[in-house]
Parts: sequence; C-alpha cells; structure tokens
Amino acid sequence: MSDCIFCKIAAGDIPSATIYEDDDFRVILDLGPAAKGHALILPKEHYANITEMPDELLGKAMVLAKKVVTYMMKALPCDGYNVVQNNGEAAGQTVFHFHIHLIPRYKNDGVGVTWKPGELTDAWKQEIMEKTKGLRGE
Ligand code: AMP
Ligand code: ZN
Repeated sequence: MSDCIFCKIAAGDIPSATIYEDDDFRVILDLGPAAKGHALILPKEHYANITEMPDELLGKAMVLAKKVVTYMMKALPCDGYNVVQNNGEAAGQTVFHFHIHLIPRYKNDGVGVTWKPGELTDAWKQEIMEKTKGLRGE
C-alpha cells in the first residue's frame, strides 16, 4: 500500500527505532508510548487488521510477541505486559495496517489499558450463545 505509513516504516523507507527485525516483521518503538518500552510489531506485508492476516503469519506474530515480551521483561526490566491489538475505528485502531502493541507495565504506573467491568446478563448470554452456534458447528 503506497500511502500506508506502517508499510513504509516496515520496509525501512521511513526511519524508526527498530528493536527487532526478521523476514516477516519489524518491531519498532511507538512514537506515542503508553509506557517506557511500548513497541509495535509490524508485518512487512500490508494487512489492514486481524481478519485479513494469513493464519501462519498471525501465528508467527504471536510467537514473536512472546519472544520480545520475554526478552524485555528482563531487559527493561518491567513488572508485566499488555499485549493489545486494535481492529476497527470503534476499537481505537488509528493506523489501518495490522500491528500488535507490546506495552510494558510497571507497578503503580497508572497506565490505563483496562475497562470498567459490566455484568454478563442472562439476556446477553442467551443472545450470544444463539449467535455463536455456527462457530461451534451446531
Ligand atoms: P492503533 O491506535 O492501535 O492503530 O495504534 C497506532 C499506534 O501507532 C499509536 O500508538 C501511535 O502512537 C503509533 N504510531 C503512529 N505513527 C507512528 C510512527 N510513525 N512511528 C511509530 N509509532 C507510530
Ligand atoms: Zn501498510
């Protein structure tokens, strides 16, 4: 995609703070970090979101997330990690090239990657169980 900023960064056409690179991915530091060490896994091929990602590449992306998180937990060091992946404007996606956020967490850092828990009502449960019959092959 010629007008996609993450395509250009992943290809190395726009400079970035790259902490890791292989044939399929570039891992860069986020320019607007939620916390020190916030990084993004970018596939070198353009896919807009998780639904477009080929299964094999998606699997590799999660394995890479594990590798980077495991390394950074010790290297930073930090106390925890949020692995976040936004799909669609409604979910907070602003760059429409698939990416995984790796957000280091530090005790009492006050970083808000969370939500206010609601309540699973019987109505919601019944509706969703009905709507997911196809998912289970029923
Ligand atoms: P999302 O909201 O999930 O689409 O995340 C997009 C992320 O990309 C945000 O956290 C931005 O701070 C980050 N971002 C946008 N442009 C750049 C850039 N040129 N280099 C590094 N990070 C960027
Ligand atoms: Zn792209």
